[in-house]
Amino acid sequence: MPKTALVIGAGMAGATSAYLLNKEGFQVTVVEADSLAGAGVRTRWYGGHPYTFGPRVFFSREDDVIRQLTALIKIREYYTRTWTYVAQDGQLYHYPIADIDLPLMPDYATIKQELDERKDKTPSVDDFQAYWLSAIGPTLYNKFIDTYSKKMWGIESNHMLSAKFEWVNKGTPIRTGDTRLYGDQFQGYPEAADGYNTYFDKCLDGSTVHFSCRALGFDPETRTLRTERGEMTGDIIVNTGHVDTLFGYQYGKLRYCGRQFLKVVLPTEHAFPEDVTWIHYAGDEQHTRVTEFKQITNHKAKDTLIGIEIPSAEGREYPVQSEVEIKRFAQYKALFPANFFSIGRQGSFQYKGIPDAIRDSLDVVKAVGRKPGVRATAGVA
Ligand SMILES: Cc1cc2nc3c(=O)[nH]c(=O)nc-3n(C[C@H](O)[C@H](O)[C@H](O)COP(=O)(O)OP(=O)(O)OC[C@H]3O[C@@H](n4cnc5c(N)ncnc54)[C@H](O)[C@@H]3O)c2cc1C
Repeated sequence: MPKTALVIGAGMAGATSAYLLNKEGFQVTVVEADSLAGAGVRTRWYGGHPYTFGPRVFFSREDDVIRQLTALIKIREYYTRTWTYVAQDGQLYHYPIADIDLPLMPDYATIKQELDERKDKTPSVDDFQAYWLSAIGPTLYNKFIDTYSKKMWGIESNHMLSAKFEWVNKGTPIRTGDTRLYGDQFQGYPEAADGYNTYFDKCLDGSTVHFSCRALGFDPETRTLRTERGEMTGDIIVNTGHVDTLFGYQYGKLRYCGRQFLKVVLPTEHAFPEDVTWIHYAGDEQHTRVTEFKQITNHKAKDTLIGIEIPSAEGREYPVQSEVEIKRFAQYKALFPANFFSIGRQGSFQYKGIPDAIRDSLDVVKAVGRKPGVRATAGVA
């Protein structure tokens, strides 16, 4: 009898896990709450323009992660710059913060003094705010980080965020040299007009997939998953959904920040300069980020589509990386039975990207192949 695997969710982590477990000879069943695979990474269409829910570019420095994606779809290598609009200066600057922009700032003398005071000092690791203030000083912190981060995570204070989580550009608060977003690693986007969609189709080929089927709860004792189509189980269970839902919110609701997403077609061929894909808005504007999709998709048209992201109490896209919530997740993690792998952005309650979701899936298969019957803990849980 082949071994069975039950996968919750058909986003990047769930679909990749289904594919890899299938290859290992597992009989795979997938339950997906949505009617289609891919979640926010799935390409949809508006006014003839392909788009995803926010930008979903691929970047990685890990060969096996890149190989996993490029084995199933063609990726066009492209590099981009991203900017931040700082309303108090009436200026657009590179983001991550770039040293070449500093002399252009009206308060450069103060910024330089604050940076000089911090030269050769190791930044604080007490929390996110302490890290940034000690790394770049109050003037740059106020311009780029303070308000942006509070609105991005829907939080009252940046002291709430742990300094441990992996945010973009961690460890290099001010860039010197290359101003491309991920110039130090492979970056690309699917060549096909429908983006990653074929990847999801190919990954799920060979699995039994129940779309529009929400997992409602999980009993770790009996390994039974309660779903909208009845009870299910598997020798291996891979969860990529929210763990508080699965375990009946017994330690309370994990805190997330959601996103409202607005699509706007503009009557111009290009809205942004050629090498810019998105702009962050660091002040008290409601939105966090505006993306011009053509820059990512290479779509040709006389008009252009931009996407505007507005933080929202609805939706559960961004797991709030506070010590309180990380501890709450650890309580849920302690309930995981053997051969239960909880991965991806929601399943691990970490600020993960597409490459991490693929990494986690590769690690599940490694763990299953190497040590059957072993309890899933660090690394993939
Ligand atoms: C606006 C935005 C922009 C982003 N841009 C980038 C980017 O440019 N580059 C990058 O690398 N990363 C980006 N990311 C992050 C990246 O896309 C995600 O980390 C990655 O796609 C997560 O994949 P996942 O499979 O772990 O989770 P998800 O994509 O969330 O998939 C989880 C799936 O599980 C399903 N599900 C959840 N609960 C249940 C349940 N109870 N029952 C059944 N099904 C369930 C969901 O419907 C969903 O399909 C972005 C994220 C956001 C929100």
